Amino acid sequence: FNLPDSHNEPAVSYAPGSPERARLKAELDRQYNQVLDIPLIIGGEEVRTGNLLTAVCPHEHGHVLAHVHQAGEAEIHLAIQAALDAKADWENTPWEERAAIFNRMASLISTKYRYILNAATMLGQSKTAHQAEIDSTCETADFFRYNAKFMEQIYRQQPLSTDHTWNRVHYRALEGFVFAVSPFNFTAIGANLATAPAIMGNTVVWKPASTSILSNYYLMELYKEAGLPRGVINFVPSRGSLIGKVVLDHPSFAGLHFTGSTGVFNSMWKTVGGNLEKYRIYPRLVGETGGKDYILVHHSADLVEAATAIVRSSFEYQGQKCSACSRVYAPASKWPQLRELILGMMARIKVGDVRDFRNYMGAVIDEASYDATMRYIGLAQESPEAEIIWGGKGDKSVGWFIEPTIIVTTNPKFITMEEEIFAPVLSVYVYEDEKLDETIRVLDGTSPYALTGAIFARNRYVVNRLTAALANTAGNFYINDKCTGAVVGHQPFGGARASGTNDKAGSFLNLIRWTSPRTIKECF
Ligand code: GLU
Repeated sequence: FNLPDSHNEPAVSYAPGSPERARLKAELDRQYNQVLDIPLIIGGEEVRTGNLLTAVCPHEHGHVLAHVHQAGEAEIHLAIQAALDAKADWENTPWEERAAIFNRMASLISTKYRYILNAATMLGQSKTAHQAEIDSTCETADFFRYNAKFMEQIYRQQPLSTDHTWNRVHYRALEGFVFAVSPFNFTAIGANLATAPAIMGNTVVWKPASTSILSNYYLMELYKEAGLPRGVINFVPSRGSLIGKVVLDHPSFAGLHFTGSTGVFNSMWKTVGGNLEKYRIYPRLVGETGGKDYILVHHSADLVEAATAIVRSSFEYQGQKCSACSRVYAPASKWPQLRELILGMMARIKVGDVRDFRNYMGAVIDEASYDATMRYIGLAQESPEAEIIWGGKGDKSVGWFIEPTIIVTTNPKFITMEEEIFAPVLSVYVYEDEKLDETIRVLDGTSPYALTGAIFARNRYVVNRLTAALANTAGNFYINDKCTGAVVGHQPFGGARASGTNDKAGSFLNLIRWTSPRTIKECF
């Protein structure tokens, strides 16, 4: 038990003129100027079905990055079989060796793959260089390094023994295979959803989001180069409804590691419930789903800090983080100042192609997201209860671009205060300072979600009161900080209520879900 010390991967700044920027630009050019043919990877073999999906740049949707082979029913069965075939060898691989592979994965990221993954995430998911760096480089490497540490932490948890009995817990992997279903918005989440079960000895069928295939495919190359045995993670892009049905129907289905919408998670849970008699074990269902995350500002707050946090957590990555702030509660006495500070920052935000490093925002992920967001903005434009104080326009001629948009509403339950939009749209409700208790109740009762939330206050009594009163509104709660950007090893991440099972990605609490402990008592 002496793994290398874990540390968080430092972020590179890509400053103008730096060699790192030149290298990233060269990699962007390389990936932009080729059209990849991306196969399925099943049991380490490339499989081509000819049933192709086209991957494009969201900020230039006429530009094709790759053709992606999609799995049909036969390939999904092959992938399940490959996972089951790889299971015994992988599970019985000494844990030190599994940890070594994961540390090697992290170290490959901090050198060669940093550029590959960042460029793929920028082009395929429309992240800026900084947003790509903190996701596909830093957070991904952090998951690999820290999950090895958390594995060690779990294996150390052992019961009491006596002179005549030796009690021990054998942290078995789950009996069967794990299904990982990942979203487009974080390359790191795709990495963690598949590899967290894997480090505990499970083998995985991984369905990446159809809009993040490029970076997710490069992760598979990284795993191979680091020596992850074939069949441990099987890469199976496919239509969600098809793969969900085939996988959840299988008797060896042992667990679901999911990040995505609440609706999809609910329907998978119901399918699992209906299939219980088919399974050998009760499957583990671990999901992180939607969010309607908030920032509540108290009149004692530092307003510059609050404004910065509001702008960053609402608009970085186009508001497409589950953790993104999308509703603000601002005190009437300070709103004029806060509004001026926020609008001053908004005036400096540039939106465009992420290959131009001056842009702060790229495009939203696809046309469906663009259209849905513009419908919400339209509702605000038409409503007497809402005023758009910034942005409000979109242009989808070249890319799916939406201006960062701020709506101020007199109705704290206005639809944009309540529903998850997952785009650069922030709603603000201005409350009377003396009605803080009522505001807390409204905040708590407005949306079904409870992922992240932040409060800004300098008054310690108020900090304590809000922290207690808002206990159930967020799985990740921030005091005087933005509500995005949880760091692996520092802020275990996950929400409750309709935001998920709260099994805290980036901690031993998540990894323990991928074990089925066996207690062994031996007598002497
Ligand atoms: N962990 C990320 C953060 O704290 C959000 C992850 C997500 O979007 O699901 O910002």
